[in-house]
Amino acid sequence: MRRRKTRQISVGGVKIGGDAPISVQSMTKTDTRDVHKTVDQIQCLQEAGCEIVRVAIPDMLACERFGEIRERAALPLVADVHFDHRLAIQAMKRGADAIRINPGTIGGRKRLGNIVLKAKERGLPIRIGINSGSLERDLLRTYGRATPEAMVESALRSIRFMETLDFHEIKVSLKSSDVVTTIEAYRLISREVDYPLHLGVTEAGTLVSGTIKSSIGIGLLLYEGIGDTIRVSLTGDPVEEVRVGYGILRALGIRQRGPDVISCPTCGRCEIDLIPMANEVERRLRNLTHPIRVAVMGCVVNGPGEAREADVGIAGGRDGGLLFREGKVRKRCSQGELIQALIEEIEKMVKKR
Ligand code: SF4
Repeated sequence: MRRRKTRQISVGGVKIGGDAPISVQSMTKTDTRDVHKTVDQIQCLQEAGCEIVRVAIPDMLACERFGEIRERAALPLVADVHFDHRLAIQAMKRGADAIRINPGTIGGRKRLGNIVLKAKERGLPIRIGINSGSLERDLLRTYGRATPEAMVESALRSIRFMETLDFHEIKVSLKSSDVVTTIEAYRLISREVDYPLHLGVTEAGTLVSGTIKSSIGIGLLLYEGIGDTIRVSLTGDPVEEVRVGYGILRALGIRQRGPDVISCPTCGRCEIDLIPMANEVERRLRNLTHPIRVAVMGCVVNGPGEAREADVGIAGGRDGGLLFREGKVRKRCSQGELIQALIEEIEKMVKKR
């Protein structure tokens, strides 16, 4: 897949766009006024591989605490501001690495202009974050609803205005809770501007439904070469957003981080209790960052083939199964020994690499 050429910006040292790797972002879900909990959550996100974290700034107290969070957190932080442009300006003074604003909620050009001038002075980028749920009223009147065209027009208005101020450190997102609208909006904007695009499907839902919608929306766009950074939105632990984000990149062969577990769905031929075993393998490898392909297969039909193709794998059989490594059978194990043998083999491989 050929990636669309975009300008490059930098968010706290993380490059976005151009030939930079597609980065994985998330957002804290704690009360920003609670510094301790927010810093803890950022730490968990960092351990999961998150590269940029957005933090909501709902009021001035949160903005003040944001300064403390900035001092203690190791990742680049994006201040997310609605309604009150002064919060964006204060967040920049308190060390924000970038600002996310929504033209539909920031309250007009004068206020946006003030934010842009401060960002320019400090050399910080701004994300124009269009959300289908908060488009400008006149656009809703013109288009009837939040269509992809309306979302793009909203973004272009702000982009063109920022350009008149000679500001180009821009990143754009056009998120809808409807997957097809999201895809169409990004396709349209990618033909209009060369600013880096932040991909996401907004309000995508809980772990399963949000993963499905995000994988289709983000995955399809990435496959078309559109997108420079991603955020999966889930109603749940933000660490899962990061895991799903890397899962999308891994599935498309864009970035490899952590294990790729291939497990069969099981069927009437399965001779071992595979479903809990596959879940246990995933759980035990959850914190592994090394890219490794692990097969967990139920029987001799596809099991040996997949297990041979993987770096390491198991294939069930009568009274246990076989452990494979790099295409060769290492040993036969009882069902009770299989998982431990697999994990030990992976640990040996990771140590060697
Ligand atoms: Fe069924 Fe075997 Fe295929 Fe698993 S590998 S789905 S157990 S045939």
